[in-house]
Amino acid sequence: MKGKHWYDYQPSPNSSWAWRQICQVKERIKGGYIGDKWLGKDIEHKLTDGYDWMRQGNSPKVEWYNTVWNNMNLPKHRFIAWLIKHKRLLTLDRLCRMGITIQKLCFLCGEHDEDHEHLFFHCKYTCLCFNMLYKWIHLQPRQMGSPEEMMGLRKISRFRRKVLCSLVIATQYHIWHARNVGRIEHKVLHPMAIVKAVQEGGESVLLHKRQDNLAAVAINWCRMIGLM
Ligand SMILES: [Zn+2]
Repeated sequence: MKGKHWYDYQPSPNSSWAWRQICQVKERIKGGYIGDKWLGKDIEHKLTDGYDWMRQGNSPKVEWYNTVWNNMNLPKHRFIAWLIKHKRLLTLDRLCRMGITIQKLCFLCGEHDEDHEHLFFHCKYTCLCFNMLYKWIHLQPRQMGSPEEMMGLRKISRFRRKVLCSLVIATQYHIWHARNVGRIEHKVLHPMAIVKAVQEGGESVLLHKRQDNLAAVAINWCRMIGLM
């Protein structure tokens, strides 16, 4: 960067991934400066202004926005869901490309190579977990699908759609956990353990909502999981 203006600076292709991301954000935010002033106005620039400016109208809303940032999802589930959407989890296909491993076979089924698509949508183990989950919430297998399909279901309330979506997101989180247990401890968790963990997570959402005094949410959730 020596001798260059930060505005015009472009990172070299050999720069680290993190540095290139920082430069990308700079490229996006500099569009908000007109002359030397933020949005051409004589106002003090705050970090939150830049964030809001990027969010509103300057970044297209992705189709999975409502499913990943659904307020019924636990924060740790949202984070893993976000990584899945970007295909950024360190699945075996990526580790192989990085030269970190030569192991390609899925730890959960042992039949196919592991990548995001296989692990979260096609793996036998994953399908088994989802079958058990849908049985628990009384959904027909033909209604099975991605979180987006859950959010798109008609004839059910918006609340119920959000709950269903959060259960799918939670299941993906626990499948990733089971995969890590398989890789590190060389054992495969029983699919029932996944469903149980999803159920317990659901209860913690309920408790959280109770703290917020959203009694109606709590009652709906109890009905949903058969506690009432
Ligand atoms: Zn598999």
